[in-house]
Amino acid sequence: MTATWRSGNAELAMKKDAGLERKVTSGWRPATQAVRGGTWRSEHGETSEALFLTSGYTYDDAETVAARFAGDEEGMTYSRLQNPTVAMLEERIALMEGAEACRAQASGMAAMTTALLCQLETGDHVVAARAAFGSCRWLTDALLPKWGIETTTIDGRDNDAWKRAIRSNTKLFFFETPANPTMDIVDLNFVCGLARENDIVSIVDNAFATAALQRPLDFGADIVAYSATKLMEGQGRVLAGAVCGSAEFINETLLPFQRNTGPNLSPFNAWVVHRGLETLDMRAHRQSENALLVGKFVEKRVPITLHPGLASHPQHALAAKQMKAFGPIFSFILDGGAKQAMALLNALELIDISNNIGDSRSLMTHPASTTHASMSEEARTEMGVDPGMLRINIGLEDPQDLIDDLDQALKKVGL
Ligand SMILES: *Cc1c(COP(=O)(O)O)cnc(C)c1O
Repeated sequence: MTATWRSGNAELAMKKDAGLERKVTSGWRPATQAVRGGTWRSEHGETSEALFLTSGYTYDDAETVAARFAGDEEGMTYSRLQNPTVAMLEERIALMEGAEACRAQASGMAAMTTALLCQLETGDHVVAARAAFGSCRWLTDALLPKWGIETTTIDGRDNDAWKRAIRSNTKLFFFETPANPTMDIVDLNFVCGLARENDIVSIVDNAFATAALQRPLDFGADIVAYSATKLMEGQGRVLAGAVCGSAEFINETLLPFQRNTGPNLSPFNAWVVHRGLETLDMRAHRQSENALLVGKFVEKRVPITLHPGLASHPQHALAAKQMKAFGPIFSFILDGGAKQAMALLNALELIDISNNIGDSRSLMTHPASTTHASMSEEARTEMGVDPGMLRINIGLEDPQDLIDDLDQALKKVGL
């Protein structure tokens, strides 16, 4: 099917003025969009997306620039407002996600902050799942309350807890699934449906899955926010983020905030993320397969292995309902606490000690002293970040080499 897809991003109508041609179809499936969606080609017909490493633009005459600033004429004016390489990425991500529009951000945290602050005001109330990336918890626990925005953190796995937390001033639900690093799964259908029934906007942080494995908008989410630094870019090279949603939300609510505060993604980083997206579908599925093989091995040696793809995960059935595969990341808990967890990290020979995820290299971290170190111990305990927890990102190496490395390291710490 070849249909003409009209992008929800206002600036994408500018392709003609930029002298670029593009072929876009919304009929393609996400794996095709990840390779081809949003491509614009210049008069040179380049195969790979061009890198427009420019902060500004020039004009044929003074009247043209005045008309562009007045909004009477379409065209690029300044890269905080529009950039062709960034716009191609935004269109590609929107097409993969099944969203009307998308805006790229400088990092995942820029995406989360922008998605929240562009629509919240003093007196609003936010309900967030307590299992979340450390900096996302900082936004809900420290930043929003400082500005008079009330927040409630709940067990995101408990559907009734979402219901009970709703107040008359509840404006937003905010959560990730699977959650970092406890691998809690939130019931997308239920929670996003509950939000809609109550005029609440749902924001899903989809970094652990990406559109290759899970599309929250298909389950009724309003907004999907990303750290594209992780699985999307996939090779640990640049920071990037994105927010996807309706054209109305992106153009009328998010865009004025972004244009005037400037959390923009650099064109160079956008170009690198493009390179990552081309292989996303393949990487996400292969890394998921590898993670399941390694998870099955770890589970035999470590009783608490938190992997949504394992039948032992209490929410395995729910994860299987909303995910195509279970992703490259899982966690496990050692009885010997932080001491044993750190000893295991120090015994690794192939797997790197690193707090990044989504990379094509296998990486392991101790969340309590790294990604979740900024939280209080009480908050860590409440969300299930045990001092003996380790989180592993499984990459594209031969899974048997990863199993061999874990085998020798586990032996060294007496397991
Ligand atoms: C890494 C991460 C973020 C933050 O993204 P950055 O690109 O590092 O700013 C937000 N949410 C989740 C779930 C993450 O894993």
